[in-house]
Amino acid sequence: MSSITLKALSKQYTDDKHTLNDLSLHIKDKEFLVLLGPSGCGKSTLLRMIAGIEDITQGEIYIGDVCVNKVEPKDRGVAMVFQNYALYPHMTVFENMAYGLKIKKVKKAEREKRIHAAAEILQINPLLKRLPSQLSGGQKQRVAIGRAIVKEPKVFLMDEPLSNLDAKLRNEMRIEIKKLHERLDSTFIYVTHDQVEAVTLGDRIAIMTEGKFRQIGTPMEIIDCPIDMFVASFISSPPINYLDAVLVNRDGQTYVDTDGVLVETDLPIEVIKDHPRVVAGVRPEHCFITEDSSNAFVMEVLFTEIIGTDVLLHLKHKTSHFIVKKSFTQTYEKGQKLYVGMQANHVHVFDKNTQKNVRSLQ
Ligand code: ADP
Ligand code: MG
Repeated sequence: MSSITLKALSKQYTDDKHTLNDLSLHIKDKEFLVLLGPSGCGKSTLLRMIAGIEDITQGEIYIGDVCVNKVEPKDRGVAMVFQNYALYPHMTVFENMAYGLKIKKVKKAEREKRIHAAAEILQINPLLKRLPSQLSGGQKQRVAIGRAIVKEPKVFLMDEPLSNLDAKLRNEMRIEIKKLHERLDSTFIYVTHDQVEAVTLGDRIAIMTEGKFRQIGTPMEIIDCPIDMFVASFISSPPINYLDAVLVNRDGQTYVDTDGVLVETDLPIEVIKDHPRVVAGVRPEHCFITEDSSNAFVMEVLFTEIIGTDVLLHLKHKTSHFIVKKSFTQTYEKGQKLYVGMQANHVHVFDKNTQKNVRSLQ
């Protein structure tokens, strides 16, 4: 059993401020959980507490059925991969991978077997005799992961393991980590501030801000129903567009009315009175350019950004910036006027005052 349970966990480095505040979460055996949040929100602190290298101020951590608050890091069955690799510079790759096993008194033959097996998975066999200084960033990261694999942990803890790699390598390693999870069948807790990593890797994502969980759910749940405007913005790349709007009742059906542009919503009409002013949020990929001016915004092209086979149209809508993503089939001129529509089933409605998703308040 390698489930992990956090019970009312708190951390205070200083008397006046909670770095982590009353966190409770159950992570299932073999789950891939991503902790996603901006820098400074407490992700590394939480991971280090689970690893046992940071004291707990209050609350409990269980690995399986065992409360590990007082269990030594080496006896918790966890292995951590750090952002900065933390390889021993004077040891070869082989020795780096062997070190933790020696401490745990794993026999030499078994050590060698595990190291070669891990090196095979990570394709670092030719590097075993090299020193860390003779490795590229990507190779160092593989070694750091290899050092974790050989411990055969029940739980992998990874703290932004790809953030020092260039974009191409990051994409490759992301896939490697996903495969590794499938192959090893262990529980993974993976820290990142990158929402693309989070949605591609996570079975579930726990979004953190200021030491608290803001929303926990599958990538689909979070994308489909972000709990508030912060989460909607944080999870969207390119950024989500926001427009001031009101909810209106037309013949018993609720519509989002944005400057006279109406989109149907399945929100019940009863919510209208509770949310007199709302913000409509729509992602660039859920907007479209249309010839039909009847239920569309008029926007002006500021500039275009070509991303592979897609294009981001950066548009001016009154005084705000609006982005439409579409396939790159034609060019657009600066200053050109376009009609822009929104896919009704992808318009999120937030309360203007509380910034909370009206749907999640139902
Ligand atoms: P993240 O990994 O999400 O960027 P951290 O867990 O590293 O965030 O830090 C969370 C907060 O705790 C930050 O405000 C940071 O300054 C503070 N913090 C981290 N480590 C210490 C420490 N050893 N002493 C005091 N404050 C710390
Ligand atoms: Mg960190």
